Formats: sequence, structure tokens, C-alpha cells
Amino acid sequence: MNVVTHIHELKELIQQHQRKQHSIGFVPTMGFLHEGHLTLAKEARDHNDIVVMSIFVNPLQFGPNEDFESYPRDMNRDQRLAEEAGVDILFTPDVKEMYQGEPSITMTVQKRADVLCGKKRPGHFDGVVTVLTKLFHLIEPTKVYFGLKDAQQVAVIEALIQDFFFDLHLVAVPTVREADGLAKSSRNVYLSERERQEAPALYKALKQGEVAVEKGERDPKRIYQLIEKELLQTSGEIDYIDIYSYPELEPLQHLTGKVILAVAVKFSKARLIDNVIFHVPESGEKLV
Ligand code: AMP
Repeated sequence: MNVVTHIHELKELIQQHQRKQHSIGFVPTMGFLHEGHLTLAKEARDHNDIVVMSIFVNPLQFGPNEDFESYPRDMNRDQRLAEEAGVDILFTPDVKEMYQGEPSITMTVQKRADVLCGKKRPGHFDGVVTVLTKLFHLIEPTKVYFGLKDAQQVAVIEALIQDFFFDLHLVAVPTVREADGLAKSSRNVYLSERERQEAPALYKALKQGEVAVEKGERDPKRIYQLIEKELLQTSGEIDYIDIYSYPELEPLQHLTGKVILAVAVKFSKARLIDNVIFHVPESGEKLV
């Protein structure tokens, strides 16, 4: 595995592979790798000639009171895990390499960004699309791999690819979970023992909502109440419980089509998010 920190080294390697007409699978991450990230890398490994992974904690997508400084980092461990997962090129630039001086141009997301995580994190998705635009230009991937744990991010990046004619295919990978249902996340290390025990409630609540829809419930308010009841049993503070169409992320009066149920809960040192996405038949008939 090649580990590169400079853009010129990365470009050289990419050009070597382009000359051989290799397909390139790209997995962007912020590091502190876990099974979720490694599943994306393995997917990329299975479907491309080479795999490029980036590890970059992107300051532009963190708000002033967020955890940019304290975001967990462990580059030695990450390098070992990336190599084991079959990554060919690991790109680990520092902030100066990616943002060379004051930007002349910034990007603004117009749709899909002011709900869910974007509501309380103004500018977050602007930062995400800005760094991805840079990375897509540098790596020119055939396919890019993102986790559905960050379903809003997937929706925004699908729009980025479409609006800017990026010639690449987005692969959305299902959320990888612990045995008890908790979505794997770099931030799970910040849960206390008690919070860790409570945290599976997010997925449990979402699944209860999904089951209610399967049984015929179509009123988003009723689903909201079911999810809320479960989450209120934890010591965490509910940040949001939202129900939208997917990937448009528009409110629904009556559940139909592809929908997302999504939650965010703030524990003492970590804010956890989770979601389920499923298709609701038009008829409103019972599925089970
Ligand atoms: P991050 O390092 O948190 O920015 O995540 C990098 C990529 O890994 C994103 O596409 C995430 O959606 C994805 N990811 C993070 N956690 C999981 C998970 N539990 N299952 C699947 N993908 C994940």
C-alpha cells in the first residue's frame, strides 16, 4: 500500500493507473477506522482494479463548537487496517495541503441540506461537498463508496454528482452494526458504559417505526410518537426525530414511496445518528 500525504505524489500514482486503464474505487473517510469503513473498502476491493482511501478530518465541515480538535485519530492503526482491507493508495493530506490559503470560491448546497443533521449544523454539507469536489478531481474515481449510516450525506452527494456532471458512480453501502444493533461509528468510543448500553435504542426505535408502517400505519405523527417513546427511555437528549421522502428529504403528510426515518440523540460526549430507509407501497395496504 502506498501512503501519500502530498497531492503531487497522489496525482503521479493516479496517472500511472489511468495509463493502465485501471478502474478506481474511492472511499473517503475521516479515519479512526472501524468495520463500517472497512466494509466500504472491501466493497471497493471487490469491484475495482485499485482502491484509494482518503483519511482527512475536514475542518470545513465542522462548526465552531463541534469536535474537530477532539475528533478521534489514530493514523498508525488506520494504516494497518487499510492495508489489511486491500487499500492500494492511502491519501492522508494535512489541512494545508487541501486548503492552500483563503479560498476564492466556496460551494453552497441548495437542497437536502437544511433538514436532519444540516438543520443544527449550518455549513456542514457545504464543507462536505467542497472537500469531495477536490478529492473527486484529484482521484478521478470510477466508483465512490459511502455509507447509508450518513443517508443525508448520500442524498447530497448524489445531487453533487448529478449537478456537476461528475463521471462517477456512487455506491451506497448499508449500515454496519454491532451485534446489538448500534451503528458502528468512530464517535462510539465517547459513550460511557451506561450510554453504550442505552445506545441500541436508536435502531430499536427506528425498527419499531418501520414495523408499524409495515403493519399499515401511514401517519408520520404516529410513527414519530412510537420512536420518541423508545428514545425517551435513554439518558440522551433527542436532537431530532424526522420522517422524510428519500432522497429528496421533503416532509410527508402521509407515508408513501421511499421514506427515511432518522434520529439523532445527544449523549454526554457523543451525538449519535441512525436511520432506516424503506419503500412504502402507494396503496396503504398492510404488508404483513
Ligand atoms: P466518516 O469517517 O465518519 O466520515 O465515514 C466515512 C464513510 O464511512 C462514510 O461514507 C460513512 O457513511 C461510512 N460509514 C461510517 N460508519 C458506517 C457504518 N456503521 N456502516 C457503513 N458505513 C459507515
